[in-house]
Amino acid sequence: MTDIKSMTLPELEALLSGLGQPKFRGKQLFSWLHEKRVLSFEEMTNLPAALRERLAETCCITALETERKLVSQLDGTIKYLYRLQDGEHVESVLMRYEHGISLCISSQVGCRMGCAFCASTKAGFVRNLTASEILEQVYAAGRDTGERISSIVLMGIGEPLDNFDQVMRFLELVTDPHGLNLSHRHISLSTCGVVDRIRELAEKDLQITLSISLHATDDAARSAIMPINKRWNLEELLAACQEYTDKTHRRISYEYALISGVNDSRRQAEELAGLLKGMLCHVNLIPVNYVREAGYEKSPREKIYAFQKVLNDRGVNTTIRRTLGADINAACGQLRREAEETVLS
Ligand code: SAH
Repeated sequence: MTDIKSMTLPELEALLSGLGQPKFRGKQLFSWLHEKRVLSFEEMTNLPAALRERLAETCCITALETERKLVSQLDGTIKYLYRLQDGEHVESVLMRYEHGISLCISSQVGCRMGCAFCASTKAGFVRNLTASEILEQVYAAGRDTGERISSIVLMGIGEPLDNFDQVMRFLELVTDPHGLNLSHRHISLSTCGVVDRIRELAEKDLQITLSISLHATDDAARSAIMPINKRWNLEELLAACQEYTDKTHRRISYEYALISGVNDSRRQAEELAGLLKGMLCHVNLIPVNYVREAGYEKSPREKIYAFQKVLNDRGVNTTIRRTLGADINAACGQLRREAEETVLS
């Protein structure tokens, strides 16, 4: 079955012209899929019945089944666990901020990056998501809440740059003026540091925000918790980030999860300020979320503030990420693991 929700408008036009249809049908079909966002061919009432039947025989409209939905009583954060058509699971998290709703979405089932502190990688990698499966997380949340999603972060399960082609296709579709028409500036992509792909992304010169999961300030420490650092070290990573900024003029956001006794000392704060000196950047300090298999504890509040002060005093912009959805285990990867464990046990 052809996955038509992953197709761009020119691709849909080519598909329909192959079925002997005029060009304008492509726009009609695109609009049903991405503007009205229907989930069946029957609803596409301006397409001839014979065409709808033909499409139903040969094409599928990707849909996600909501297996669990948890709503935080504290702050209205919603966590969705979706079942994909092949029975695999992914998660999305909807967060409410003053400036609007932000949706954190997954790009892969599992992850092969192996970061020591991360729940999503513990059971390994299963498969890439298709562009339509990434997109449908956004459409499904909009349908469920009836509210406009104002920003998207590719920070859920998976390494987006390890699923480069489908993620690029997703970005093209979600920003299409005939679809959701989200601005690139309201999309963040987070990576553990896949340097060759960061360069490729820079070449595309998109106005998205690139987030880099840094989490350490020297190669030995970073390699110990993030295997990707053995392939591309800090120097190579930061050089690629500088190229990204030179090309796109976008400020890079560095994620730094503070782990008690591991990366939260004053010396490490000073080193971090040194590494980022002169770069157009912002540092997001995140109290690490507890993951059973990892066993890392978050830094105490005073340590976090002290770390922040060192950076601020040296002219590095920082924010401390607020914990949202604390009552629903909203940190990524954890619901999927529970679901898999329930199936296995
Ligand atoms: N693979 C991408 C995107 C998914 S992870 C990446 O590595 O950036 C999204 C963010 O959550 C990353 O910054 C990641 O390092 C961080 N993260 C993973 N596990 C975490 C944990 N237990 N506590 C805090 N942040 C975590």
